[in-house]
Amino acid sequence: MSSQYDVIVVGGGPAGYVAAIRAAQLGLKVVCVDAFIGKDGKPALGGTCLNVGCIPSKAMLDSSKQFHNLTHSFKDHGISADNARIDVAQMVGRKDKIVKQFSGGINSLFKSNKVSYVAGFGKLLPNRQVEVTLQDGSSHRLSATNVILAPGSVPIELPFARFDGKYIVDNAGALDFASVPKRLGVIGAGVIGLELGSVWRRLGAEVTVVEALPDFLAAADTDCARLAKREFEKQGIKIMLGAKCSSAAIKGNEVHLGYADKDGDKVLIVDKLLVAVGRRAATTGLLAEGTGVKLDDRGRIEVDAHCWTGAEGVWAVGDCVRGPMLAHKGSEEGIAVAEIIAGKPGHVNLDTVPWVIYTEPELAWVGKTESELKSEGIPYKTGSFPFAAIGRAVAMNETAGMVKVIAHADTDRLLGVHMVGPCVSELIHEAVVAMEFHGSAEDLARICHAHPTLSEAVHEAALAVDKRAIHKAN
Ligand code: NAD
Repeated sequence: MSSQYDVIVVGGGPAGYVAAIRAAQLGLKVVCVDAFIGKDGKPALGGTCLNVGCIPSKAMLDSSKQFHNLTHSFKDHGISADNARIDVAQMVGRKDKIVKQFSGGINSLFKSNKVSYVAGFGKLLPNRQVEVTLQDGSSHRLSATNVILAPGSVPIELPFARFDGKYIVDNAGALDFASVPKRLGVIGAGVIGLELGSVWRRLGAEVTVVEALPDFLAAADTDCARLAKREFEKQGIKIMLGAKCSSAAIKGNEVHLGYADKDGDKVLIVDKLLVAVGRRAATTGLLAEGTGVKLDDRGRIEVDAHCWTGAEGVWAVGDCVRGPMLAHKGSEEGIAVAEIIAGKPGHVNLDTVPWVIYTEPELAWVGKTESELKSEGIPYKTGSFPFAAIGRAVAMNETAGMVKVIAHADTDRLLGVHMVGPCVSELIHEAVVAMEFHGSAEDLARICHAHPTLSEAVHEAALAVDKRAIHKAN
């Protein structure tokens, strides 16, 4: 194996593997070093997103949605089925197959793009050298003109609720339960808690989400968050806000979760506990002395607007640097850095990174919320439109939700678009494109939208900014 490269990428998740492919497309000699070991004990490319995050959770969300529809929604369509049953092993097996297919897909893409792959743990040494420790414990050194660090993130562990893989689990554990837990406790009403809580609720678990903050989904639009919470509660998910957890004791086959809310100390007894209180940059053991790479006060790698660490030829992208911990943000940073290294312009606009929560209804947004604009003193106007007045949504029997468009009060420039409802993970991209092109609410309002489609809600919300929505009172 060669030891001299143009680019070494440390990390084969959506930030790292995309950076490696793009750099190779641009004619550079690239090696990607990745330490992830899959469920079958073999090295697996794709990082958290592909192995234990985005892709497997969407597979499980889809399976559980099919079951929920069969047992709850199909009868409205005149379809009935007796004795609906779940085979959890089959469901998890299907998810594992999808993961394997996509991880193998990255190996093929590496081969076709001539990216070398070393399965091992990479540690940055001074002067753009990387020490790689292989699974058998042996190590060797690689050097390059440029190193891209893309180590990703790991779940934050609470000191009183350590992951044991059996009763107290992280996102990976909650994707692999052998059967539906009767009672599932979730610490943290964030993205992971709500998505995985939804999976097991739809399959019949009693799900209780315990959240320390008083507000639900504080980063989202307040109206969208309120509407989503109401729908989740209708589905039977119990959400306790302003409840801070402080202990978790395993007694017999149960977890006794101690928490305090405004009424004092309480205990919640569950069969499984998912801890989803955020993630931290995976920088443990990544940096040797003297590399010149610095960490910030949250343990993330410090970078400038172009993901440069300040050390010659060393870059960092994805979850390990500032900005949202989202796969697509990491991929864009990986592409930008590869292009900069190859002498081209590369840039990521963090202001137009879309957010999606894949619950039912889905939430999606881009840009600023009303609360952010208020605190920044920016004058704005809004227009919103409910899916209940959209013919396609009614025909689909998925009417919960709305679209809200926020525009500058004086210039009409789009500042944020917020959605909760059916398929909003797809609808949001119209707003992303419009904002990326510095569009206005008027631009969205003047675009012809096909009828009957869900995207008419975006059109009507944009019209509503100027109080001229057609299918609702303004
Ligand atoms: P999160 O930051 O989304 O939510 C964590 C929640 O836990 C917060 O609301 C926080 O207030 C709460 N919390 C923290 N400590 C607590 C305590 N002691 N008791 C009760 N509540 C407590 O984190 P997450 O859900 O773990 O997700 C981690 C990261 O992964 C996020 O940055 C997210 O963006 C990313 N992710 C994204 C997607 C997606 O894009 N759909 C899916 C999964 C994960």
